[in-house]
Amino acid sequence: MSKKEIRDIARQRIKWLYQLALEETKKKKYDVARSYTKLMFRIAEKSRVRIPRTIKRNICKQCDIPLIPGLTLNIRIRSEGKGSRIVAKCKLCGWIKRYYFKVKRCRRN
Ligand SMILES: [Zn+2]
Repeated sequence: MSKKEIRDIARQRIKWLYQLALEETKKKKYDVARSYTKLMFRIAEKSRVRIPRTIKRNICKQCDIPLIPGLTLNIRIRSEGKGSRIVAKCKLCGWIKRYYFKVKRCRRN
């Protein structure tokens, strides 16, 4: 098997494991979900495949749980000046992530 093939398989497994982790999180089986995300990180490390950003940002950096708004993730939005501040908090471990969005004003011609 070539390296490319190994990486392709690793990528498929990463996506698959993430889906499984999501399903388990929805069932509130957090320990099972965590075992999937941990396995996913291990596969990525071994095969030197990067975990897609869309997946990575949806996993709590502290407790490895998939972050699902309303279920494992609390989201608060506050208007501040010209933008909005978004505070996302993991419900399981309390890890907090903050974003700041500037609101672009549409100019009318
Ligand atoms: Zn967490």
